[in-house]
Amino acid sequence: MKIVLSTSNPDKVQEILEIVDLDIEWVVKKIEVEEDGKTFQENAIKKAKAAYDLYGPAVADDSGLEIYALDNFPGVRSARFMEGADYSVKNSKIIEMLRDIGENERGARFSCVAVYYDEYPHVFKGVIEGKIAFEARGNNGFGYDPIFIPYGYNKSMAELSRAEKNKISHRAQAFRKLSEYLSSMIKGT
Ligand code: IMP
Repeated sequence: MKIVLSTSNPDKVQEILEIVDLDIEWVVKKIEVEEDGKTFQENAIKKAKAAYDLYGPAVADDSGLEIYALDNFPGVRSARFMEGADYSVKNSKIIEMLRDIGENERGARFSCVAVYYDEYPHVFKGVIEGKIAFEARGNNGFGYDPIFIPYGYNKSMAELSRAEKNKISHRAQAFRKLSEYLSSMIKGT
């Protein structure tokens, strides 16, 4: 079975292919879509449909960081916040924005909506709760991982190994559900 994976983020491709371990021929395509939806779901469906219209059955996702003390900022703007700047700069900026926010008010979450589009969208969601650190730590992962401490951990997401991140992350949760769906579809159950 051949499915298009629509993304322009190579870090995500690696994580996704490790999570969805199925007998599928993935064709990775970078399809430009204006991510103007108000929710991760709207954007993920838009990306998946654009790929489906061009190539047939397709998977896409949208994801991001939501910081409660900042009214869920950067949210759907996670990729576009300070566009062009290095994530070390973006992460320092966020820590600076939270400089007066105490330990107990630094709650945040990563969300991911994964969509398999085949005639219509099939939607799978994952969320990981945590808090924003007082300083960036770790070199694994990507994006905002160095400033996000998952609930129950005292390490940032960038200090976890890829295998550890893939057990708990928002993307892992959403794509495991998508994987179960595709697996049952392949088996015809
Ligand atoms: P997307 O490609 O539109 O889904 O953009 C998602 C953006 O959210 C990324 O470019 C990162 O800034 C952020 N993000 C999403 N998932 C993660 C993650 O697992 N770790 C760190 N940052 C993430």
